[in-house]
Amino acid sequence: MKLKLAALAVATVFGLSVAGAKADTYPNRAVTVVVPFAAGGPTDTVARLVAESMSKSLGQQVIVENVGGAGGTRGAGQVAKAAPDGYTLLIHHIGMATAPSLYRKLPFNVLTDFEDAGLITAVPMTVIGKPNLEPKTVVELIDFVRKNKEKVTYGNAGVGSASHLCGMLFMSKVGAQMTTVPYQGTGPAMNDLIGGQIDVMCDQTTNTTGQIKAGKVKAYAVTTKDRVKSMPDLPTLQESGLKDFEVAIWHGLYAPKGTPKEVVDKLNAALNVALDDPKVIARFADLGTEPEPKDRRSPAFHKEFLAAEVAKWKPVIDAAGVYAD
Ligand code: ASP
Repeated sequence: MKLKLAALAVATVFGLSVAGAKADTYPNRAVTVVVPFAAGGPTDTVARLVAESMSKSLGQQVIVENVGGAGGTRGAGQVAKAAPDGYTLLIHHIGMATAPSLYRKLPFNVLTDFEDAGLITAVPMTVIGKPNLEPKTVVELIDFVRKNKEKVTYGNAGVGSASHLCGMLFMSKVGAQMTTVPYQGTGPAMNDLIGGQIDVMCDQTTNTTGQIKAGKVKAYAVTTKDRVKSMPDLPTLQESGLKDFEVAIWHGLYAPKGTPKEVVDKLNAALNVALDDPKVIARFADLGTEPEPKDRRSPAFHKEFLAAEVAKWKPVIDAAGVYAD
């Protein structure tokens, strides 16, 4: 924060308009996008697809850097403190909205430490199990978890991750606690699930579709209200008896607070090009998702949406009574 203020002060002393100076030439070197989870997971997959297309329209490389840990809060915290020059960005998901309620001491403020540069995609999640897990259907799985409770191991990407949120909702609706096993991202957790080291996981279709279709994991259900087009045989949790279970993992692009508006607008324009790119749309469809509709892509919409999501999840998390330090 001090560094940021110092940079702003220097620019002002030399009579530069930070916005003008940055926006005209931006970007004139590679841009880094921090993904706050391990490589090979679903957030990483979304970010790499979008970054590849944004590189073309920005005329500079957009490099993905994985900074996993603490359910996404480590990477997000790093970007909150980065120089507000448009060269360090963040692609994060719904964890931006749940972390403020989950963490007693969050070292950044999701509403005031970032410029919201646009929503990307809202991805359904799937409940999956290791290849030889006993239950054959989600109804059998619910029964199995009720009977075996803590003996069942549940992999997630730490407190504040999407997999954590989904598991928390699942356990509260089922009325039984499993033993959670945290990872730096669900990419590595998926390897352990396939290898049988953990029993169950709930993760975005951007990570699970390939493994489900290849028969490497057991697929039980989707977490959205409707079934997903790419896997029409998978039932929803709602139709399987878990009333009102509905969660989709939205993703957004962020810059540190103070990044000039013109730079944020350039990033939003490049993001829009990526979301209209037929290659991105086709890959998203393969992975069970689609780009956000055009009317939900502006920075202003993102800002309002994030504030509404923070407010929406607070009572749910308070009721579940799950906190982290
Ligand atoms: N799907 C993970 C989560 O639970 C994050 C990841 O590895 O991308 O939030």
